[in-house]
Amino acid sequence: MSESTPGAGRRMTRAEARHPEVAVRCRHCKAQAGVDCSNQRGTAPMTGPHRGRRDDWTVATVDCADCGAPIGAPCAPEHPAIPLPGPHQARIAAADVVYAKALEDASRDMPGRKR
Ligand SMILES: [Zn+2]
Ligand SMILES: [Zn+2]
Repeated sequence: MSESTPGAGRRMTRAEARHPEVAVRCRHCKAQAGVDCSNQRGTAPMTGPHRGRRDDWTVATVDCADCGAPIGAPCAPEHPAIPLPGPHQARIAAADVVYAKALEDASRDMPGRKR
């Protein structure tokens, strides 16, 4: 399953340009990579991707300085019996930097330009 690697040689979709975490599949609503999240009930418009998608993107994008988890591997909890609700703060902070840069790059990404 390597198709979920962000920025792997293909151009960002428009959805990704707005929300870089869209580069990974959403496990919550099952939106494919590159496709916006959808509200399954259709009762309210989505204001952005599901929160868990950002966590998955974080895991797929940066390693963790806190627990040493490599890119693609989820953070390891301090206590195996207590699962983490998401990536460690250090990892989230590192991913935030990449996220901001991705948005910046997307804002000047031109069609046909290879990155
Ligand atoms: Zn979703
Ligand atoms: Zn970690």
